[in-house]
Amino acid sequence: MTINLHTHTPRCNHAEGSERDYIEAALAAGIKTLGFSDHSPMPFQTDHTSTFRMKLSEVDDYFATLTALREEFKDQINLLIGVEAEYYPGVFPHLQALLKNYPLDYMIMGQHFLHDEEGYPGCGAKSIDPKWLSLYVDQVIEGLETGAFTYLAHPDLLHYIGCASTYKKHYTRLCERCKELDIPLEINLLGLKEGRHYPNNHFWQIAGEVGNKVIIGVDAHQPYRFAESEVLEKAHALAEKFHLNLTKDIPLRNPIVL
Ligand SMILES: [Zn+2]
Ligand SMILES: [Zn+2]
Repeated sequence: MTINLHTHTPRCNHAEGSERDYIEAALAAGIKTLGFSDHSPMPFQTDHTSTFRMKLSEVDDYFATLTALREEFKDQINLLIGVEAEYYPGVFPHLQALLKNYPLDYMIMGQHFLHDEEGYPGCGAKSIDPKWLSLYVDQVIEGLETGAFTYLAHPDLLHYIGCASTYKKHYTRLCERCKELDIPLEINLLGLKEGRHYPNNHFWQIAGEVGNKVIIGVDAHQPYRFAESEVLEKAHALAEKFHLNLTKDIPLRNPIVL
C-alpha cells in the first residue's frame, strides 16, 4: 500500500494517537501519500450536537497541526489534509462556507447518518425496511453529484438485511451512478479487520459487475492499523474474487464547490 486517504485523529473522540504517531506508522508501512480525513466538523443549524466528530472549536488546530507536520515531513511523505464528511442537504452549504477558509485538499464521503443526522437512524443500524436503503442511496448520489467528494468510503455501510433483490436494486443504482461520476468506491480495512457488516460480498459482487473503480482505505483510528498487513491481503483477495478494478490513482476533487 502506497496511498491511504482515510486516517483519523483523536478529535473525533473514538480514535487514539497523535498525528505524528500516525505519520510514523504510515512511513514504517511504506506509505508515500497519507491523507488525514478526520470526521468533519458539522455546522448544524439547530442545537443538535454529534460526539463522533471534531468540534467547530477544534478546526483551527486540526489544520494548523497538519500544516506544520506537512512541512516537517515533506521530504519523507506527501501529506494531505482532508475530512470525511456526510452529505447532509441542510448543512452542506454551511459546511462549505466553513471549510473554504482552510487549506483543505479533499473530502471523502462517509455517510454515517441519514437526512441531516438529527432524529434519523445511523446507517450501520440493521434494518429490513427498504426506505432507509433507498434514502441512503438517493442521498449519497445527491452528495456525490455536487462534485465535492473525492471518493465514497465504506459504500456498503447501510445495513439492509431484507430481501436480496431490493438490496441489489438499490446498490446497483448506487454503483452505476458512481461509475458515471467516476467516483472510486472504498474497500474499508477497518470493517474487514473487525468483521463488521461491511465490506459486504453482495455489494462487491455488484461493484465488480458494474466495473467501478475501487480503492483501499485503512480508516485508521489507531496508528497500529497501518501494520496490519494480513487485512490488506484479505482486501486484495476480495478484489480478486469479484474482479474489482483496484486503483491507486485517485484524482483529488476540489472539495469546495459552492
Ligand atoms: Zn470513525
Ligand atoms: Zn472513517
